[in-house]
Amino acid sequence: MSLLRSHRNFGTIPRASGAAAAALKARAAAWEVPLVETPGALSLFVWGCELRLVPDSDAVRIELSAPEARLIGTLQDSATELFAEAGLEVAWDRVDAGALAPGLSLMRVRSVTQRSPGFIRVRLSGPDAARFGTGSLHFRLLLPPPGRAPVWPRIGATGRTEWPVGADALHRPVYTVADHGDGWLDFDIFRHAGSPTCTWALSRPEGAEVGVIGPGGGWCPEAARLHLFGDETALPAIARMLDLARGEVTAHVRAACPDLGPLAADPRVTRCDDLLAALAQADLGQGSFVWFAAEAGQARQARQHLLARGMNRKAFTAAAYWG
Ligand SMILES: Cc1cc2nc3c(=O)[nH]c(=O)nc-3n(C[C@H](O)[C@H](O)[C@H](O)COP(=O)(O)OP(=O)(O)OC[C@H]3O[C@@H](n4cnc5c(N)ncnc54)[C@H](O)[C@@H]3O)c2cc1C
Repeated sequence: MSLLRSHRNFGTIPRASGAAAAALKARAAAWEVPLVETPGALSLFVWGCELRLVPDSDAVRIELSAPEARLIGTLQDSATELFAEAGLEVAWDRVDAGALAPGLSLMRVRSVTQRSPGFIRVRLSGPDAARFGTGSLHFRLLLPPPGRAPVWPRIGATGRTEWPVGADALHRPVYTVADHGDGWLDFDIFRHAGSPTCTWALSRPEGAEVGVIGPGGGWCPEAARLHLFGDETALPAIARMLDLARGEVTAHVRAACPDLGPLAADPRVTRCDDLLAALAQADLGQGSFVWFAAEAGQARQARQHLLARGMNRKAFTAAAYWG
């Protein structure tokens, strides 16, 4: 993604510059993202975007800049919410009230196939599919409640995204783009008990409209030596990263052998039953980056283990994919 922040929007908060600055500082700390203070401005940087506060004599001017139009909308949503939490209302120069939520594309289910014993492959088609093949690996799937016409999230008059609630509330799991092409994208659903997404995928949804919001969650980390660890839910992301990695890369995957597909014969891939034991045995030398994704408790233990080994926080990611 280009870091040229050519998309912009502006807003104003009357008075209360101290409160606005405090709210922005608190959010930067909560999100663990950079905050830069200069004599005339305070800037928070996130998703390649900048949220800048410029105090004026009797107001605070807010300047949003982003590399993509949809990220301006996402940042506007977050800014409206974070200042509202501090009791401050932003008057935006521009609000696309009534438009679909930023980053939301509506697509149709083209096919559903049994990819392997443990995975269902879904192909979606729509003119926006190409947008999901670059920049970030993941997206949020929006499924309406069974039997109900979809009500999609839209931008409200304040700049905040209004999500359907109650009987129209959407199921919103995160998936990884497994493959993509001209006007289509594929994702692979791991079959597990109690999964509304599996129930939906097995209900013959071909032709149905679904929402796809994103992409998000980052790209393949740049590293001389990339060490990947993940369970079944991380298998699609690991497969993508094995293709994308430019340095040396190895992967430990906890999944059944038939679900590995071509990766079963890839010398860079080791199937294992205990991801934490595999992580403990990994040789993490200079230039290593560790990527770990699994159930929340396992991700927490992986993070603790890596910190205890003296690994720099910037040299690993330990993500909760479920639970
Ligand atoms: C960045 C990211 C990328 C992801 N990519 C993929 C992907 O490509 N493919 C994929 O299959 N998953 C992926 N996941 C995981 C997926 O989002 C979760 O498994 C999610 O819970 C699936 O929604 P659901 O409708 O199946 O179940 P939910 O309604 O979310 O949960 C229902 C119940 O199932 C349990 N559950 C959820 N996942 C599992 C599991 N794996 N094993 C056992 N029980 C489980 C929950 O704890 C809950 O009790 C990803 C997650 C993240 C954060």
